Amino acid sequence: MAMVANKSTQSFIKPSDATAWIACIRRAWLDKHQPTTVFEPDAFNLLLSDLGLEHEAAMLTRLENQYPVSKAVSFDQTQTLMQQGVPVIYQGRLMDEQEGLVGYPDFLIRHESGQYQPADAKLSLSENKKAIQIQLGIYRRLLRNELPAIVFLGDGRTALLGDEVNPVVDEFITGMRALLDLPQQPKVRYSHSKCRICPYEAHCRPGFEAKEDISLLYGVHGKAAEHLGEAGISTISQLAMSTVESIPDVPYLKGYKRKQRAILQASSFLSGKVYQLNKAALPEGTWIHFDIEDNPLTPARERHVYLWGFLVPAYGRENFDYVWTNDETLDYEGWLAFLQKIEEYRTLFSIGACTLLESRKSHYQKICRTLCNGKSCHCIMAARR
Ligand code: SF4
Repeated sequence: MAMVANKSTQSFIKPSDATAWIACIRRAWLDKHQPTTVFEPDAFNLLLSDLGLEHEAAMLTRLENQYPVSKAVSFDQTQTLMQQGVPVIYQGRLMDEQEGLVGYPDFLIRHESGQYQPADAKLSLSENKKAIQIQLGIYRRLLRNELPAIVFLGDGRTALLGDEVNPVVDEFITGMRALLDLPQQPKVRYSHSKCRICPYEAHCRPGFEAKEDISLLYGVHGKAAEHLGEAGISTISQLAMSTVESIPDVPYLKGYKRKQRAILQASSFLSGKVYQLNKAALPEGTWIHFDIEDNPLTPARERHVYLWGFLVPAYGRENFDYVWTNDETLDYEGWLAFLQKIEEYRTLFSIGACTLLESRKSHYQKICRTLCNGKSCHCIMAARR
């Protein structure tokens, strides 16, 4: 392993780049070329960070109870500690100058063969997350041995990641190298879920707005925007002036209703006018807004409801309440926690009715049977005082 102790590692590929790269390649590019210095993480991300540090500290204590642990303070010292064969190195620093890789595994644990295994403490309940696989896979590459990497997961399990993660690591390294060589930030589409929590939102959004990028419309997928562009509808103004009949079927934007909604959203974006798609008879009373999010791409292909969200009076950001689970094995626990919340709200707000606002294919009839005997997963629960 070629080591240098004092060379700037800004342009090196780091395992921590994987999270940005997976979220948005422009974010990964900006991190390398124009890193922001003014971003304040929100309370939720601070909480996650604190919990992550707590988990790492707990793993450190566990290892300290079993082995002598030495803390590394530099690349060279990490090498020295490895040559000395210390049982556990905390916060080791690894670099491969030729490959342009650098990594800081939480732990390097000496195997009986005398080689070292990288280990990270992760709050996640699953080792099958792409970012985790890439991060641990890079550490393996930096160590250049065949031993699997160790993940200390948030549920107390210890998982091993071996050669099976190599393809995703290769894809990441190739993608990052291409980004490092790119003189201009890559073209991407706006994503409401990703951009709103991104440190570069203030940098990117004016560009999307200036171009009237269709992906700014909530509900129009970036891929649909791509295909609309190929069909000659590149701006929000052009979409607003389109008719349902003139819009071709494209991925994520098929059928009369979706196209009509996209046209009205475009028009609303430009004029500020609110269009009501469906008439809804809303009950009197105090409302609790309710939504759930799920992931159909679980390994078992069972839908995992990971978020049960509630917006309760007085409907500010601070009034958002939720139940969250990390993987499908906790789906049922999430469901029970959701029912508990409903009972709390029944007491607090005397829920009297449930009105369905939007109907979509019901994967959640159990919820609706509980709440309102309805068929939809998007509800407004009206609570009567
Ligand atoms: S604001 Fe959006 S487009 Fe810009 S870097 Fe972040 S995620 Fe990517």
